[in-house]
Amino acid sequence: MTDQYSPISRLLHHRTQRLRKGEPVALPIIASSTFQQPGDPDGTHFYGRNGNPTVEEVETEIGLIEAADTVLFPSGMAAIAAVFYAHLKPGDCVLVHADGYYNARALLADQFAPKGIEVRTVATTAFAQADFTGVKLALIETPSNPGLDVCDIAAVAARSKAAGTILVADNTTATPLCQRPLDLGADLSIMADTKAMAGHSDILAGHVSGRNADLIAPIKTWRRLAGALVSPFDAYLLHRGLETLELRVSRANANALAIATALSGDPRVTGLRYPGLASDPAHPVARRQMKGYGPIVSFCLADRATAEAFIARHPLLAAATSFGGVHSSAECRVRWGDAVPEGFIRMACGIEPVSDLVAATLSALDGE
Ligand SMILES: *Cc1c(COP(=O)(O)O)cnc(C)c1O
Repeated sequence: MTDQYSPISRLLHHRTQRLRKGEPVALPIIASSTFQQPGDPDGTHFYGRNGNPTVEEVETEIGLIEAADTVLFPSGMAAIAAVFYAHLKPGDCVLVHADGYYNARALLADQFAPKGIEVRTVATTAFAQADFTGVKLALIETPSNPGLDVCDIAAVAARSKAAGTILVADNTTATPLCQRPLDLGADLSIMADTKAMAGHSDILAGHVSGRNADLIAPIKTWRRLAGALVSPFDAYLLHRGLETLELRVSRANANALAIATALSGDPRVTGLRYPGLASDPAHPVARRQMKGYGPIVSFCLADRATAEAFIARHPLLAAATSFGGVHSSAECRVRWGDAVPEGFIRMACGIEPVSDLVAATLSALDGE
């Protein structure tokens, strides 16, 4: 199908376009570790670690959205790990966000710093002014999770390119429907597909996408050698989520904007952050580079007890971590040791009707 149609239309129909009479319209789950392969290998499937047809279909689908070669992994962290293991060696220097997903920093501290890789952290808001001299690889995350700070991807990419740095963008909070790091100059886009891409809180998955074969090939090699493969069943569930991605993301974004709008100006709420709010400090940059602002709203209530009570009495919130699922959820991030106030809540909007979610949120605030 030609490029005149949106990636979502092409994703929905790339399979139907190739079907022969009698073949299933839904994507088959090919659950096989080994494939018929007599004689010399001829490039067709032969072993699950080297390639599986269901997994490859899903890589093609995500590749249509990213407009890039895509490698699927069994979790977001496996995708991040693959980039680090494939591209960092002793003596290299890596720049990583100081305030994004903490396990990315934990992985560098645990596995890479002891092997002679220098790890420097930079606040998301300072990345566009960071010194990239001598930096092999930089990992940004914008909007950052959970603080929702934003950096100017094009500005970071210009500096990183000038220094010969590989720029990797964790695009989990936005999704490629709302923000396109590769179009803005990032070399690799990585995502926890566990979140909005799969969207139903039932699998872990992740991917790396890139348009430069020299950067992607070592990542594919690392995956094959390390064996970080997603199962065909989980790939199928991800595929199923991708088919409704646009609908889910647009509802979740609308919910988040409506919640942020409803909470702004409320005297019981402090530190409200949502990049889509015109009053948010991240909004001027977010507006330039995002088409939608994601499902996460963060804010503080008076203290931990007030925040926990709000979550407990809210009828449309799962008291759970993660985001990007169909059910709205929330948690006090202080329980994970994040550098946030006691009453800080990360609320992740799902796909409930907007008016229900706003009404339930306001009555939970009122203590009803
Ligand atoms: C959840 C998350 C990850 C890790 O994904 P897993 O699938 O849990 O390994 C990485 N980055 C961000 C921004 C995330 O929110």
